[in-house]
Amino acid sequence: MKWSEFGDWGARVAGWAEEYHRTVGERPVRARTRPGEVLEALPVAPPEGPEALERVFEDFETIVMPGITHWQHPRFFAYFASNAAPASVLAEFLASALAPQCMLWQTSPAATEMETRMMGWLRQAIGLPEEFRGVIQDSASSATLAAVLTMREKALNWQGNTHGLAQNPRLRVYSSSEVHTSIDRAIWVSGIGSDNLVRVPITGDWRGMDPVALEAAIEADLAAGLVPAGVILCVGATGTGATDPVAACLAVARKYGLYSHVDAAWSGSAMICPEYRHYWEGVEDADSIVFNPHKWLGVQFDCSAHFLKDPDDLVKTLAIQPEYLKTHGADGIINYSEWSVPLGRRFRALKIWFVLRAYGMEGLRQRLRNHIDWAGKLHEKLRAEPDFEIVTAPMWSLFTFRYAPGGAADPDALNLALVNAINDDGRIYLTQTRVDGALVIRFQAGQFDTTEEDVMMAHEVITEIARSLT
Ligand SMILES: *Cc1c(COP(=O)(O)O)cnc(C)c1O
Repeated sequence: MKWSEFGDWGARVAGWAEEYHRTVGERPVRARTRPGEVLEALPVAPPEGPEALERVFEDFETIVMPGITHWQHPRFFAYFASNAAPASVLAEFLASALAPQCMLWQTSPAATEMETRMMGWLRQAIGLPEEFRGVIQDSASSATLAAVLTMREKALNWQGNTHGLAQNPRLRVYSSSEVHTSIDRAIWVSGIGSDNLVRVPITGDWRGMDPVALEAAIEADLAAGLVPAGVILCVGATGTGATDPVAACLAVARKYGLYSHVDAAWSGSAMICPEYRHYWEGVEDADSIVFNPHKWLGVQFDCSAHFLKDPDDLVKTLAIQPEYLKTHGADGIINYSEWSVPLGRRFRALKIWFVLRAYGMEGLRQRLRNHIDWAGKLHEKLRAEPDFEIVTAPMWSLFTFRYAPGGAADPDALNLALVNAINDDGRIYLTQTRVDGALVIRFQAGQFDTTEEDVMMAHEVITEIARSLT
């Protein structure tokens, strides 16, 4: 394929994408592919000669499309949404046409300076004070890993990168039981080890970390000669939206001089609405905060906003400067690759710029408020059904429930059968989680094109399918 053909193909793909989004609601949300089906349809060996793009595009329609789960479907209520607003898709198209490698300021000054400005916009949008600096990471998992590495280096007096962990005392990191698995992986990868991730008991309606138990755990570790390194809090955890009491837990972290990281990967987007900021009151005392515009803000994957009280700690942990990466004679510039584990970086700030300008803060706030409002209404309707029970109340637009007709022999098996039957049906897509050991079904609204009707259809589908099972 030549660039001379790109204009025609680009227009065709744009038209395809427009039609896809217009009609995606008619497709089953979750792919109906059986394992191995796509693999078998793909030739084992690569082609020796060029093939016409027309043929490739036909195969895309017949082989790939049936194997896609439609994250942009208006009735995608599983996991969390992963939105791609059209303005974001356009920005990504431009970014991929330029395909710059934005590791250093000089490798594309516009990308670096756009990133600085966009992180300033997002900082204000979610109500963080001016002292925070930001960087775009590829994922919340990467931001958390960077924060845990910083905790480790700080606690080891910046010696861990050089000497490793073998001769050093055992470090301890504290989180609740509700945090995302990306925290476990950061603890593994950093060499701290999961034996040293202390799971502090949770308390209260928000299923958050008990600050008294946090302090007791730190004291016990100090008495045992271990070295507390950091505290990881969550605001809006993945299972049920569990939220730690941020101010009280950060007060404990500060008392012991521990580095703190707040994972608000999903719920952070909702902080563009001031009425939800009470959920993370006191967050300005954190050292590191992450949220994912690629979940709920319309900016497509990957785009994770990582805010730091003092970026020097992070840079001291991650920066490496071989001669060929030095930017001679350009003081006062930022090389964002020194703020993250990977060296290479895409031009991710462009899609934030497009989305914030195309919708405006008020347009984005309205979408999120609708999702939260509609999820609340669905929750009320399910709560009124005699054979359903709400397990955890809405946190933003997320709640969990169970089908509980009298006398079910195995409620977990029944609810798993229900979620599977709902997803095979295809009109909506839900996922399950466990709360205090019991299997429950999650509902979250957050897809940008969803309507109140779409959300309410979930009531019809859930009750109809549940009653057909018993
Ligand atoms: C989605 C999510 C993550 C992981 O986000 P990635 O960007 O996929 O790494 C981490 N924490 C929470 C609370 C999440 O909801």
